[in-house]
Amino acid sequence: MQELGHWIDGKRVPGRSGRFADVYNPATGEVQAHVALASKDELDAAVASAAAAQPKWGATNPQRRARVMMEFVRLLNRDMDKLAEALSREHGKTIPDAKGDVQRGLEVIEFCIGAPHLLKGEFTDSAGPGIDMYSMRQPLGVVAGITPFNFPAMIPLWKMGPALACGNAFILKPSERDPSVPLMLAELMQEAGLPDGLLQVVNGDKEAVDAILDNETVQGIGFVGSTPIAEYIYSRGCAAGKRVQCFGGAKNHMIVMPDADMDQAADALVGAGYGAAGERCMAISVAVPVGEKTADKLIEKLVPRIEKLKVGPYTAGDDVDYGPLVTADAMKRVKGLIASGVEQGAKLVMDGRDFALQGYEDGFFVGPTLFDNVTPEMDIYRQEIFGPVLAQVRANSYEEALKLAMDNEYGNGTAIFTRDGDTARDFAARVNIGMIGINVPIPVPLAYHTFGGWKKSGFGDLNQHGPDAFRFYTRTKTVTSRWPSGLKEGGEFHFKAMD
Ligand code: NAD
Repeated sequence: MQELGHWIDGKRVPGRSGRFADVYNPATGEVQAHVALASKDELDAAVASAAAAQPKWGATNPQRRARVMMEFVRLLNRDMDKLAEALSREHGKTIPDAKGDVQRGLEVIEFCIGAPHLLKGEFTDSAGPGIDMYSMRQPLGVVAGITPFNFPAMIPLWKMGPALACGNAFILKPSERDPSVPLMLAELMQEAGLPDGLLQVVNGDKEAVDAILDNETVQGIGFVGSTPIAEYIYSRGCAAGKRVQCFGGAKNHMIVMPDADMDQAADALVGAGYGAAGERCMAISVAVPVGEKTADKLIEKLVPRIEKLKVGPYTAGDDVDYGPLVTADAMKRVKGLIASGVEQGAKLVMDGRDFALQGYEDGFFVGPTLFDNVTPEMDIYRQEIFGPVLAQVRANSYEEALKLAMDNEYGNGTAIFTRDGDTARDFAARVNIGMIGINVPIPVPLAYHTFGGWKKSGFGDLNQHGPDAFRFYTRTKTVTSRWPSGLKEGGEFHFKAMD
């Protein structure tokens, strides 16, 4: 059995805690590897050598740091197929989707090549007589990223790129469910020229996360995962005086207005609802057609499209639309929620619970599931299902649909499908959600904008990637300098206004 350890000081090292977790092939249900779960001592040692390596890296000119990112982009492209295969094998998503996972991370690394420009700071010439004032952005020191299973390339890249480009050392604690790709990324960073010790990949579970929270050297934490853990890490990290940003779960609504192009809306819903088996924080899990006629029409358009979906292992190549869920527990949870929807009175239009695939009977597959007549009290509406389950909630008016999205505790993404510019503008302006799509079902911002949800989907002041990431991973230092000419004044005992 393959044993996956950690990446410390520029090499793969075995775990020393004696604790391991199983890594599955979700398509077959087999355990394909064991991943080491780090102890507090292992985490602390990784942080200590990162702290020793960081000052030299922080003092390296930003252009040289950017060149490492440039080479890293080349290597990610070179190894795209290898990375995608390793990713699909542990996560279960299709190969094209796995490539998208790497690609969306790679684009953030491309953005990081602009570090010299992004870190330039501000300067005021002659703020007073002989006085110049400048603000510079300095790295925090050692920072950590704790990432989820569903994007094992993209989210580690979103974190490590900006953190390292800003001059920090970075501790990555990836998901223990698909740890291979993060280790491969660390190898590529080394090949790209990153000095050893600056990127440490420490595999683990709660023990490693708590060790990060308790370690006084760690100055900042970026977390992505479920909301309860986001809240836990945010509150404990902030209480310990660290800079923390945590991105949590989601329940994304797509509003379909009566004037929408219904074929376009149905196509969008099928991709956004069932792609990656619904294991995306930006998946659409709630369809909200406005008016009974729109709702009936949408179901009529959705059913034949959903019937055509092909579910299977990633090894089936382009013939598959989505794969299995990540673990047996995830599959059981999703099937349990489907059962609760039936018990609580939703209309089950399509049931994916009995999905079976010859040769893959032990895989963690759930077929596409569609509910109609869902109401806000039901568990399938209240909980993030994170599976291939789309719930239709019927609204009588635009205001009712808007209120539904706004009253939901999550605020990651939302979309509206309409041909009316006025409605679209009103929606974008009023809705209390971080990322909005107008006739776009999954509005994931590109690397040079920022990504972040509101309400229970995001904790902290700054978003991920884009310019916010460079603010998050640096702190501002402002210098007021005077080089007086002529006579020296005496001491000053009050704040001076600049003349
Ligand atoms: P998760 O919360 O179970 O795990 C995330 C990370 O936290 C992992 O590294 C895990 O090891 C660690 N962790 C788990 N339990 C912990 C505990 N008790 N104490 C300390 N650390 C713990 O999330 P997941 O299942 O890996 O990922 C899916 C979730 O992530 C979904 O809720 C999804 O919406 C969310 N997500 C959000 C975004 C976003 O940007 N908002 C992006 C991707 C995924």
